[in-house]
Amino acid sequence: MKAIQVFEPGGVEKLLLVDVPEPVPGEGQAVVRIAAIGVNYIDTYFRTGLYKSETPISIGMEAAGVVTATGPGVTEVKAGDRVAYCMERGSYAEYASVAAWRLVKMPDGMAFETAAAAMLQGMTAHYLAHSTYALGPSDTALVHAAAGGTGLLLVQMAKMRGARVIGTTSTAGKAALARGAGADEVILYTEKDFEAEVGRLTGGRGVDVVYDSVGASTFLKSLGCLRPRGMMVTFGNASGPVPAIEPLLLSQKGALFLTRPILTYYAANREELLRRASDVLGWIVSGKLNLRIHRAYQLREAAQAHLDLESRTTSGKLLLIP
Ligand code: NDP
Repeated sequence: MKAIQVFEPGGVEKLLLVDVPEPVPGEGQAVVRIAAIGVNYIDTYFRTGLYKSETPISIGMEAAGVVTATGPGVTEVKAGDRVAYCMERGSYAEYASVAAWRLVKMPDGMAFETAAAAMLQGMTAHYLAHSTYALGPSDTALVHAAAGGTGLLLVQMAKMRGARVIGTTSTAGKAALARGAGADEVILYTEKDFEAEVGRLTGGRGVDVVYDSVGASTFLKSLGCLRPRGMMVTFGNASGPVPAIEPLLLSQKGALFLTRPILTYYAANREELLRRASDVLGWIVSGKLNLRIHRAYQLREAAQAHLDLESRTTSGKLLLIP
């Protein structure tokens, strides 16, 4: 079968389409014939070596497809089931062997593209808005990169929970998309000082929570956007990893809370995974949550997908089709 692998970390030219043996399911695993693959920023971190892995590096953490075989001890799914999953590497491929407990059965009639687009960013937005900082109607949230794949979903979920949302993004076109998702205010952080703007928009109070996936370029100013005892949620590194800070800075900025979450620990077992996935997929089916697909590329075009994602020209979800 065809798969994308990286033999040494680096630029997009390191994403190579290679022939590898079809996987055989081990204990507790199921093999999925992949129909659509979700592209996520985390894939670029494994490609560049920011996140470490042994080589060859299997890329991709999200897909939807059909179960073709199950290994010993699998009770969650059977051959023929239409499933989606995330947070297990190796999805840039025609087949993947996946821990069966991670497989979620797709709602009837849902397209594979939709399910592959929804799982990772949808459940991330879900845990951020419901668990890391459980938003309510009295809260104001600052969402960086609000027109990105995760950002558009997080804005919608924050609005579902009744919060006021201030988004940031880089262009007027993206700002319109963030507003369309429900953002009450949008700051062009490439043109304006977002810390000063947040101060103005909150009457000097500051926001209750910052959801920051941009990292290096926004982290310190984001601390200055928070009200006393507010929560800084740094959950990504699109502009580079956040440098080390002294804990004392958090007290100086107003006794702040700081957390660095990752989906793995918020979909930590089957019960939690199914709860979040059924909310996300259910809201898509009912029309409560809108998914924006930026573009679907062929699997062999993975390098172009990474180039586009890293060049900040995308808005919404990128997919690969094997
Ligand atoms: P996005 O679609 O949000 O793309 C990244 C966006 O980041 C860009 O479109 C751009 O938006 C913004 N950005 C700001 N500065 C830069 C820069 N220097 N280079 C590139 N992009 C920049 O991607 P995803 O939705 O896939 O992921 C968003 C972030 O969330 C990533 O950091 C990812 O690692 C993180 N994440 C974390 C998870 C977790 O559980 N911890 C799970 C899922 C995602 P703009 O043009 O508006 O500035």
